[in-house]
Amino acid sequence: MTTSFVFPPAATASVPVQSSTAQFPVHRIYCVGRNYVEHAIEMGHSGREAPFFFMKPADAVLTVAEGTTGRMRYPTLTASLHHELELVVAIGKGGRNIRAADAMGHVWGYAVGLDMTRRDLQGEAKKLGRPWCIGKGFDESAPISTIRRAEDTTIGPDSVIRLDVNGAKRQASTLGKLIWSVPEIIEHLSTAWELAPGDLIFTGTPEGVAAVEIGDTLEGRIEGVGSLKVEIVAR
Ligand code: MN
Repeated sequence: MTTSFVFPPAATASVPVQSSTAQFPVHRIYCVGRNYVEHAIEMGHSGREAPFFFMKPADAVLTVAEGTTGRMRYPTLTASLHHELELVVAIGKGGRNIRAADAMGHVWGYAVGLDMTRRDLQGEAKKLGRPWCIGKGFDESAPISTIRRAEDTTIGPDSVIRLDVNGAKRQASTLGKLIWSVPEIIEHLSTAWELAPGDLIFTGTPEGVAAVEIGDTLEGRIEGVGSLKVEIVAR
């Protein structure tokens, strides 16, 4: 018997795949906090701590077709919308207690993502000991490029991750500066949650986070992965 719903279920959130007409269906979005030393320091921390995680809803993805500019509406309730450019790992095979040595077999592909943040609300939540959801998990808070299959991706410690705003450099680092590497992130994350195909992991941002305004154009690139262009527009 087929399941009957009291109203039609929401569509599955999904992300386009490079050189393909198929979509990558999104299950969950995990994010790693403070995973580059210089960013941890700019946020007032030492840069030496175990990885920690937060989540965004799956339908917070704002997808941008290859070669086009996405439009993110400036969110409500904030006067400090920050960009955080991040390498995104797309999981293709789930599991629990995955060892770092086996982790790459669970990776389906990679994308360029922005962990957009209502910094003022996140700061208030930190001060009051409240959850980060309102600062991190709002609608359209996860702009993401098309996903490149792992076998077509060539990333290494020297791969440059860089964000320009209106053509001027804001963030620039290399993937080798991640405190916790992709296999280590998967190892830690899969002790806390059972990973599933369709999970996306935002791996953390390098230093240089700052506010953007309506009319700004953000262009993020990760060497070997792709690029992501987003304009901030009025609601
Ligand atoms: Mn982040």
